[in-house]
Amino acid sequence: MSTFQELGLNQDLLNAITDLGFEKPSEVQAKAIPILLEQDEDLVALAQTGTGKTAAFGFPMLQKIDFNNRTTQGLILSPTRELCLQITNEIKNYGKYCKGLNVVAIYGGSSISDQARDVKRGAQIIVATPGRMKDMIKRKMVDISQIQYSVLDEADEMLNMGFYDDIIDILSHTPEDKHTWLFSATMPKEVATIAKKFMNNPTEITVGNKNESTSNVSHEYYLVNARDRYQALKRLADANPDIFSVIFCRTKRDTQKVAETLIEDGYSAGALHGDLSQNQRDLVMKSFRNQQIQMLVATDVAARGIDVDDITHVINYQLPDEPEIYTHRSGRTGRAGKTGISMVIVSKSEVRKIKSIERIIKKDFVKKEIPSAEDIVE
Ligand code: ADP
Ligand code: MG
Repeated sequence: MSTFQELGLNQDLLNAITDLGFEKPSEVQAKAIPILLEQDEDLVALAQTGTGKTAAFGFPMLQKIDFNNRTTQGLILSPTRELCLQITNEIKNYGKYCKGLNVVAIYGGSSISDQARDVKRGAQIIVATPGRMKDMIKRKMVDISQIQYSVLDEADEMLNMGFYDDIIDILSHTPEDKHTWLFSATMPKEVATIAKKFMNNPTEITVGNKNESTSNVSHEYYLVNARDRYQALKRLADANPDIFSVIFCRTKRDTQKVAETLIEDGYSAGALHGDLSQNQRDLVMKSFRNQQIQMLVATDVAARGIDVDDITHVINYQLPDEPEIYTHRSGRTGRAGKTGISMVIVSKSEVRKIKSIERIIKKDFVKKEIPSAEDIVE
């Protein structure tokens, strides 16, 4: 399949696609869209970040939904508030010519009564984080008894974050005969369990192999003394003056500290983590998206799935506990055919973790030296 038209999308959607400048379907779109449109089956789609999953479920959902009907027909669950907002925006873009479309985002940290009011006005599609969704169901602020299509986006991440029970609870309020579309980068046991227990004989598709999907990203590691970690980060930033980067730390505290120190040292940086207010998070994301700040220091949870164009470097200031998380981190760069570099700063005691990551990404790291002050042209 080489065009969106051949996939069976209607003219309203094709017009939006033209506006968006999407020339041809990505692999996951080419595989998923015909299944969702024609076969009307449950689907499990495994594809890495940056492969175009939002459109793979967004277009079919928009084509299936009745915009003359104001009941909620589609539900998209996603792990974080940022992703919720991002997906909501994308769906609005995809559906810009769908007359009567009403999409509402539901997530914590923002007024629940405002969200309930927006839903009451007739949201055909709700994009929600599991926690807030469950809360609103309990308080009878939403009615999802007429849902026809439910999407579990970044299912592995939602389960990593402990949303298993919430997801099951939410799905139990939707009709038996709805369709469930599950999208995930990886297939851990809990994802398989959901597919088996709560989905109806789903069709499975897998896109690319990990090798291919990360081939735009090169991986480097820098061995340093643990106490020189911050110094190393500064050197890396100095050596790459045009850097536009996400820097991952393990804890909210370290995230805040590293961002503050970078700012004190005159770098263009901002922090993104769960202890900030929604307003603060929105602000920092906005400045980062506009490239007003060059370095976004973030926790894994806060930065999950965030799709910002043209990120040149991902820097692992500290490695994640799980090697799988590394694939999510490095997937922030090298998107949409561009190249990117994922750098890891490690101390001696952590070097063995590089090996387990190499096994997962099926690629080798290049060992590099931190540039010395003389190497850096001021
Ligand atoms: P994923 O959910 O798999 O991580 P996204 O849905 O966030 O990926 O898409 C990644 C980026 O690719 C987005 O900026 C999106 O607008 C863009 N994109 C999606 N589909 C296409 C396409 N067919 N052609 C060009 N760009 C696309
Ligand atoms: Mg996504």
